[in-house]
This record gives sequence, C-alpha cells and structure tokens, in this order.
Amino acid sequence: MVRAMIPGGLIGTYVIYRDRKPHYIGRSDTNLQRRLLEHCATARGNYFAYDIHTTREQAFAAECSLFHALRPLTNILHPDRPDHEHPQCPFCPDSIAAVLENRLRTPNL
Ligand SMILES: [Zn+2]
Repeated sequence: MVRAMIPGGLIGTYVIYRDRKPHYIGRSDTNLQRRLLEHCATARGNYFAYDIHTTREQAFAAECSLFHALRPLTNILHPDRPDHEHPQCPFCPDSIAAVLENRLRTPNL
C-alpha cells in the first residue's frame, strides 16, 4: 500500500497511530516512502497519516507542530533540524516568547 500511494524520493512527515491514538511522528528529508516501509516492517502502529512537503525546512516545521501538538508520543527527543540547515522550531516556548516580545504593544496592555 505504501508503494502504491507514495512515490519514492519525496520529502514528508507522518503520524503513526496505535489504538486510535497518535503514537509516533516522523519526517523524511529524502524518501518518505522508504521511511514508512521501514516502520511497516517493525509494526510500530496500526495505521498512519502523511503529508508531502516541498522543502526540508517546511517538513521540519510541520514535524515540530506535530511533536508539540500531539504529545504525549513515544518520541522523546525534539525533531532534529535538517542537515546543514538551522531553522528554529516555531512552536518551542522560546520561539513563541520571542514573537510575542516583538509585537506592538498598546499602553493599556
Ligand atoms: Zn519545538
């Protein structure tokens, strides 16, 4: 099924579900099909959902959003940045605090 639905060589993110709950999230910066086939071989969950992305940075941001929104997961570590790139997670508390500090403030707030 993975081979039939997902062409090789695409950048993508995924959520693996077990017992109707998000169990594990991940990303492939090179070949989503191969990564999902590896998870099928280990029977990590019952089913999965996926998204295709056009850039590694976009996939990183999407994986970060899944990581922060769907916890608790079996993922313990925060998603790793793409190789040779240094984007910041837009959903980590430090990033959110920096955005809020840059907002225009009104005297009443
Ligand atoms: Zn984060």
